Amino acid sequence: MPDIIIYFGPLELAGTVLALIGLTAGGVFWRGRQAQTRRDRQLLAGFPYPALLYRRNTLAAHNPAGADWRENLDAQAIVKESARTGQNIVRTIPAVEGQSFQVRAIRLSASDTVVLFEDIAAAQRQQAFYRNFIQNVSHELKTPLTVIQGHAAKMGDDPDDREGWQASRRIIADEGKRLTQLVDNLLTLARLESPDFHLDRATLNFNALLEDVILQISDLAETRKTALSLNVAPGLPRLEGDRARLKQVLLNLLDNALKYTPPGGVITVSAQVENNSGAQNLVCSIQDSGEGIPADDVPYIFNKLYRARRVRGRPVEGSGLGLTIVQQIIRAHGGDLSVQSEMGQGSTFTFTLPCQTNRV
Ligand code: ADP
Repeated sequence: MPDIIIYFGPLELAGTVLALIGLTAGGVFWRGRQAQTRRDRQLLAGFPYPALLYRRNTLAAHNPAGADWRENLDAQAIVKESARTGQNIVRTIPAVEGQSFQVRAIRLSASDTVVLFEDIAAAQRQQAFYRNFIQNVSHELKTPLTVIQGHAAKMGDDPDDREGWQASRRIIADEGKRLTQLVDNLLTLARLESPDFHLDRATLNFNALLEDVILQISDLAETRKTALSLNVAPGLPRLEGDRARLKQVLLNLLDNALKYTPPGGVITVSAQVENNSGAQNLVCSIQDSGEGIPADDVPYIFNKLYRARRVRGRPVEGSGLGLTIVQQIIRAHGGDLSVQSEMGQGSTFTFTLPCQTNRV
């Protein structure tokens, strides 16, 4: 075999050094680009609507919602105009199916422009929803406050009227309790809807939780002359759930069942396991023999502050937030909530919760 002689002179040395410098510079440049792309994505991820980042008039990054807008010619034209004039630009552009989008081109630096697309109809719907919600909450807060003010004034008018004084004191205490309940429910809902809300999940024995709740509510049921019965299938599996929140679910549903069932009625709480295409679900229902819910109200009872019309009977206190809270908690656990109701026959609220396989 012939020997191979590699000649390594000053030219080759210089070439090798240059190649190494080139490779290092390429690596540094590539890592810099990677870091830049990460920063760009992080910046865009914070936007709840489609967002694109243009660098020197070329698309550099977009958030997941922005994927459909990558080729949008209006956006490209607005970016170019913004770069030419050096100004931020806001413009409305028509989109599919009669929707309109407000496009904002915001200049971050001489080279970078962020383009945001906001669905105007959705934003208007959201604003109308909050306006309506605030109006309803204000109304709910104002009613008890007016009653409290009226009775406080009445107590001052004739301090010697012992009987009237006692009645007013009772009414003020009741209305105060109602206000506290409303504010507590609003705070709970705000917490459940906050982006950093998380469940405190732990393995729990649902059967023990049910017994605990039934015990807690039994005095109230006795006062209301309503029979409570618990019907739990043997061998319920364990659940990964937030005990305090699930207790709140059961208390809200039982409290409603008691409120809307006249004396002499029956409330049955049942729990069992169902297999649903290989997955196990715990199914819990709270059935009452109460007044039922008018069919046209049923689709709305989970909405915030919604209270169904009462066909007959005394007014029942409530905020219209209890079922919204129940629904949010069940959904946060990956479960579902439904209702079946018939006027004069009663209502059954049923929720499901995904569960583990080892039995209690
Ligand atoms: P509320 O504080 O008014 O009870 P909820 O959000 O808990 O608010 O319930 C919303 C509405 O659903 C109630 O106002 C009532 O009309 C109806 N509802 C809820 N549970 C029952 C029930 N078990 N029987 C009859 N109506 C019910």
